[in-house]
Amino acid sequence: MPDNACPPTSIKVESCLPEKWDEEYDVVVIGAGLAGLSAAIEAKDAGADVILLEKMSSVTSSHSTRNVGNVAGAGSKMQAAAGIQDSPELWREDLLAQGEPRLMPLRLLDILINSGASHVDWLQDMGVPFSYLCKRSPDSLPRGHIIEGDARPIGIALSQRLQERGVKILLETRALELYRLADNHVAGVKAESKEKTINFKAKKAVILSAGDYSASKELKARFTSAQENIIAETAGNPGNTGDGFRMAWALGADSTCLDDVGDTRELFMFPDQPRGTGISEYLIDAGAIIVNKDGKRFQNESATVGGKIVYKQPGQVAFVIFDTRIATTDVVPEGAPTGRGPWICTCRYLDDWRKFPGAVKEANTIEELAEKLGVNPSGLAETVKKYNRCADARKDADFGRTYFGPGIRKPPFIGLGPGRPMVFTCNGTLMVNEKHRVLDVFGRVIPGLYAAGDMGKSGKIVGHGTRLAWACVSGRRSGKFAAAETTRV
Ligand SMILES: Cc1cc2nc3c(=O)[nH]c(=O)nc-3n(C[C@H](O)[C@H](O)[C@H](O)COP(=O)(O)OP(=O)(O)OC[C@H]3O[C@@H](n4cnc5c(N)ncnc54)[C@H](O)[C@@H]3O)c2cc1C
Repeated sequence: MPDNACPPTSIKVESCLPEKWDEEYDVVVIGAGLAGLSAAIEAKDAGADVILLEKMSSVTSSHSTRNVGNVAGAGSKMQAAAGIQDSPELWREDLLAQGEPRLMPLRLLDILINSGASHVDWLQDMGVPFSYLCKRSPDSLPRGHIIEGDARPIGIALSQRLQERGVKILLETRALELYRLADNHVAGVKAESKEKTINFKAKKAVILSAGDYSASKELKARFTSAQENIIAETAGNPGNTGDGFRMAWALGADSTCLDDVGDTRELFMFPDQPRGTGISEYLIDAGAIIVNKDGKRFQNESATVGGKIVYKQPGQVAFVIFDTRIATTDVVPEGAPTGRGPWICTCRYLDDWRKFPGAVKEANTIEELAEKLGVNPSGLAETVKKYNRCADARKDADFGRTYFGPGIRKPPFIGLGPGRPMVFTCNGTLMVNEKHRVLDVFGRVIPGLYAAGDMGKSGKIVGHGTRLAWACVSGRRSGKFAAAETTRV
């Protein structure tokens, strides 16, 4: 007997409906990241009456608006203007060369690839400005379209387009639960705002675009035993607590890659700043060191920026130390994706960081800098002296660092911190079909339920810039498909 032959007909679901509906729409979209915003625009343009629910207080809180802003695409107007000849075939070759064993199914990957760069052109048409093209592994040519400034224009421009179309975005409105009919058809959403519970009828469909669960310690702990991943805060949106997953699981939705809860190795963040901020490897390449509260180095910084080793340091925090000469050494290669503003700190954007109170500490002596950072002054002074000797000798007997920079000698001295590693994003996702309809554990469609962006991938996406690309492509498509549903409820 084939192993998929027995969806248990004996299991019946009970309908679950509210006593009364407070509001009615054709399509209810949950989560105002790139996937949700794109879905709502397309559903509206396809003639549906749409509402978008967002639990946070702004449209610039999502992962989609707190990142490097690299959107991959092959064959964009920008590439053509730069004389770059790209194609979906070449993009496919580059992505498959990664050999990712838990890659999203090819039927979905090909949807992304065959969209070429229509999503980049669409985002430009929607008012998202792009500034330059970057090339990042595994891409064989510049295919990453970097948003001007940082990624916030995604939230700002797309929400303006929705406003112009008369679509409401309800902020601080958290979806809690999906209502359903007796055939498991999704009928609406129970949500709560500050003041009240609201029952939204979804006459055609609900689109889940509520992002990942990188901000949920509880969900991460359910799927991994790696303590550093569990305790690490998210580098993105604190609202990404996996609500959408819980709502879908309650209806029998299938999911995959749940144990892949991100990597705390690369990002070293400063969560106390207004937006999560991080350093890039380019700051280390220029000659900065990383120390603990005792003022001691504890790793080869050029091999690892931050990293879970920070959790073994006193207070589980670390600090980045450099000087004025390093601060004016721009080692970022032309076209590298660095993001701008406070997001990923390279020397190039240090002035942007200075605008955030307390983010950058400066002093004329190392001891004074240490005092300001809360680091042991004599420990730091000794470490800097020792490091300068390493830089002169181009040899680091303690940790094997290989890139040294000029040493830390020219005042004012600069320090960032305290900081600690954070989780980038979680890769767990729901199973969906080619129309982005959510599948249950028997592979059957859950009627009236779509998932887009991080929530609807059926596997992992490889490559840089591909997750925003997928959020836009899958969001737009699910919006169109949802609008085309017949009214059921
Ligand atoms: C630091 C960082 C850098 C990154 N850099 C890049 C990059 O350069 N290129 C790239 O392609 N990808 C990048 N990514 C990944 C990318 O940002 C995400 O994969 C993508 O934004 C996911 O989009 P989304 O619309 O699915 O979800 P999100 O953008 O996460 O949006 C989900 C939204 O749903 C809301 N929500 C959650 N629960 C509820 C609820 N119950 N009710 C209502 N609303 C809810 C959330 O508040 C949020 O606004 C980066 C991620 C991070 C964290």
